[in-house]
Amino acid sequence: MNTTSRERFQSTLARSKKIAVLTGAGVSAESGIPTFRGAGGLWRRYEATSLASPEAWQRDPGLVWEFYNHRRERALGCSPNPAHRALVRLEDRFRDAGGAFTLITQNIDGLHERAGSRNVVRLHGSLWQVRCLSCARVTENREVPITPAFAGSGSPDPEAGDRRFTAAELPRCPCGGVLRPHVVWFGEPLDAGDIAAATAAVEGCDLLIVVGTSAVVYPAAGFVPMAKRQGARIAEVNVEPSAVTGLCDFVFTGSAGEILPSLLDVAPARA
Ligand SMILES: [Zn+2]
Repeated sequence: MNTTSRERFQSTLARSKKIAVLTGAGVSAESGIPTFRGAGGLWRRYEATSLASPEAWQRDPGLVWEFYNHRRERALGCSPNPAHRALVRLEDRFRDAGGAFTLITQNIDGLHERAGSRNVVRLHGSLWQVRCLSCARVTENREVPITPAFAGSGSPDPEAGDRRFTAAELPRCPCGGVLRPHVVWFGEPLDAGDIAAATAAVEGCDLLIVVGTSAVVYPAAGFVPMAKRQGARIAEVNVEPSAVTGLCDFVFTGSAGEILPSLLDVAPARA
């Protein structure tokens, strides 16, 4: 039986010892991060999803970097919203009370971390990390533009012409190898360590909160049934019903930024 009872959810939350939260693009969208999905999901004349692919990289790594340079620039201009901050307060309270808290996100923009979330599993990587194609090293990189050659590039305007970047202009590792965004592209496998960390958090949780994601893409799509099998309670906060709504014990419809702050503001029972 689904219920929208806020009080019942809050008493469940207060009794929970291990909480897992799964977030997606809806949380970022409220900060102004483009989702690049569905209508309006174009960058220039390209389907944004087609640029986030190994095939696009093979064809033109400079174009892919222009797209990511633009995304980094946009993300830098956005700030965490009340939903991000409510999740930080929830984590702090549960840690202080001796509970466990894991935030699993499909977002790559780093806003959860900027807000102050600490135990974050990033299923799809990070806009702010790069990976060397030669030595495989993953490093933090917050340069905007990514290299001087990309200054002023990346305009999403369909009239903007694609600039052809030379191999020498691509971001480079100190070892000389070409750097790529450390994000999971369509058709690529997720990091096994991240999947294991997320799975462990979901399998061990007594409450799973799904926020701003339709959870139709695996492995995220598997987390709700997985939590259900373990006997966990499941709550959903989404602007519209999703593929997992039917499995949820609590469903809150609306924007995460408006719902989460008052919904999550509950003192946990001491461990
Ligand atoms: Zn390298």
